[in-house]
Amino acid sequence: MKYFIGNWKMFGVPKSINILKKINDFYKKDVNRNKYKVIITPPYTLIENYSKYFKNKKIFVGSQNCYQKDQFSSNTAAVSSYMLKKVGAKFTLIGHSDNRSEGDTDKMLKDKVKFALKNNLKVVFCIGENHKEKKNGSTLNVLKKQLINVLNKKLDSKDIVIAYEPIWSIGTGKIPTSQELKKTIVHIKKELHKIFKKNVPAVLYGGSVDGNSVKSFKDLKEIDGFLIGGASKSSKKFIDIIKNYYR
Ligand code: PEP
Repeated sequence: MKYFIGNWKMFGVPKSINILKKINDFYKKDVNRNKYKVIITPPYTLIENYSKYFKNKKIFVGSQNCYQKDQFSSNTAAVSSYMLKKVGAKFTLIGHSDNRSEGDTDKMLKDKVKFALKNNLKVVFCIGENHKEKKNGSTLNVLKKQLINVLNKKLDSKDIVIAYEPIWSIGTGKIPTSQELKKTIVHIKKELHKIFKKNVPAVLYGGSVDGNSVKSFKDLKEIDGFLIGGASKSSKKFIDIIKNYYR
């Protein structure tokens, strides 16, 4: 099963649901629909509304983040996995580089993963190296640390998906070569195998995926899907990614 996850970031108002309705219409008629899942992570403000609409449909709604505490707390503006689950979220991103750069530490990410799984949200755990780390050859080491500092064998790996998102690729139009990407994804899967032994989580790629760049990832069977930022805000661009991937 492949994943196409759209991360809307700070985008969307209630009527933006029309974008998702078009994606859902495409999905219903797509001959390849049994091969993949579509998940969209709109901002918190839209999760309840969109989850209700898509409750018995094929698009899953998730959140972009969650707070590192269970249920309720006195932290202003914080939203917990418990609260997200209660308004219909099925997934949550955790560890997106935007949030890491705003201060999320491994300890916080560990708690976010723990409470998300406890509250029955599936976790899309994001990892990725920055430009400097890539240049000095420490990519594989950085990714290993990001994995082992947060994940451990006691977690239920069937509810975890990994999104490899090189920071230098997010929103820049730059993508890794397929050789580079293959090597990195194989390395991530090896590290996951060491942590979990069996039921190794799916590993997605994210960073400047669009209808054109996705063509260069088609032959990499190691990639289990994509996390898509900018291109997920347009139904046409998002659908083009799926169409070109299976063409
Ligand atoms: C992202 O922010 O998760 C992302 C992948 O963005 P983009 O597709 O725009 O590079």
